[in-house]
Amino acid sequence: MIRSLARMAKVTSRSALRFATALTVCFVGPVAAIAATMEPIRIDGTALPQPKPDFVSLMPGELVEMTVPLTRPDLSSILPKSTATVTEMVLAQTGQQSTREDVYKLQSGEGLATLLARTGFTRADASAAINEVIGRASLRALPVGLEVRATEHGFAFSAKNGREIYAIRDAEEGWMAFTAIRPVERYVAYAQGIIDDSIYRAASASDIPDGALAEYIRVMGFSVDFQREVRSGDAFELLYEQAVDSITGDLVDTKLHYAGLMLSGKQLGYYRYDHDGTRVGWYDRDGQSAARTLIRTPISGARLSSSFGMRRHPISGYNKMHKGVDFAAPSGTPIIAAGSGVITKSGWLGAYGRYVSIRHNGTYSTAYAHMSRIARGITPGARVEQGQIIGYVGSSGRSTGPHLHYEILVNNRKVNPLTVSLPTGEKIPPELLAPFKKRVELVEAEVMATGSLHFAGMELLPSELASN
Ligand SMILES: [Zn+2]
Repeated sequence: MIRSLARMAKVTSRSALRFATALTVCFVGPVAAIAATMEPIRIDGTALPQPKPDFVSLMPGELVEMTVPLTRPDLSSILPKSTATVTEMVLAQTGQQSTREDVYKLQSGEGLATLLARTGFTRADASAAINEVIGRASLRALPVGLEVRATEHGFAFSAKNGREIYAIRDAEEGWMAFTAIRPVERYVAYAQGIIDDSIYRAASASDIPDGALAEYIRVMGFSVDFQREVRSGDAFELLYEQAVDSITGDLVDTKLHYAGLMLSGKQLGYYRYDHDGTRVGWYDRDGQSAARTLIRTPISGARLSSSFGMRRHPISGYNKMHKGVDFAAPSGTPIIAAGSGVITKSGWLGAYGRYVSIRHNGTYSTAYAHMSRIARGITPGARVEQGQIIGYVGSSGRSTGPHLHYEILVNNRKVNPLTVSLPTGEKIPPELLAPFKKRVELVEAEVMATGSLHFAGMELLPSELASN
């Protein structure tokens, strides 16, 4: 059974405004100078805040608007915005009215020219239009099934990265083509829940988007083993941002800002900090990194199938020391690098099957065995980052079924990955502590405004909350 709290995100518009206003403080330097001389510049490069659209009622929790700090304006703030229909764009750009608008799907073996002929454009029109479109989209790589919306004055189709290509025929000036960007609106959402058996189940009951949950698991995964440490009655909360396509209402992106977990006995809370837009760090309130030097469980959604220590070997039948841990998971499940480092071995290694080892520093190494496939680029000497996919679960070598055999080595000695003490990652640099604390305050104010579990200070027992 899953209990999800009735009292979900109640974010007042006042608090949202406070959050947004304060965030713009981060907006300094050359960009601020530009902002002073130009019409309202979008610091998040997306649509201007608008009144809550209807589809918000379909979203988990109550959503609020939020502006996101960005250090420089990007192309998306310069490109025109897509419109819901081609008719609308034709009218806006040329003043022409369209009498029809239909959707055509690119068929197998068909090119854009043939499709345009089907929509009723003459050969000359199609070729003039394509001349304008070339250079904006790779016409050879258009996928079968691509939807092209067309009126008698022009057409549009989706390109990469939320962009759309429009080609419009002006009565006087002929064909023109341009790239537009899908308008996106961003909202902050808060979610919380009580775990009955699994975090995944509780999160899906709270309608938390997959992207935000994956980020949450990754951040918490350094400190918590979700398969073994989480008990019934433990509670979680998160504050995340979601980007929604204003035209279709589709969720296009999510970004986690805060991850909280109340385990029986300990409370954990981690806050995002974007370092110059190049790197994301996660820290507790005091600025201590959430990251450990190594991840204990470099695979998600897996079940511990064999632990470290003496056991009867499943194939030989002899008692033997098992110097690693086994995680059973479906074949093909991605395996990630437990820490950043350099690949020392990659390839077939006897009973280990397809095997990868990584040297993280002078003290720590990790090894991964029985893969079905080693990821591309994972070759001896290659550098990998923590969390990077290095291969996929399989049953190669001496193995009875798909699983990951995982080893941590300390000074070349194999240790129990689940119990070895691992040093934490670095603290936030001293010069960033003040801006980081400011962010913590903002996030906490936002979370507090929802009447949440108040991980940050006050606390309520999950059972009391559930009875509300
Ligand atoms: Zn094993």
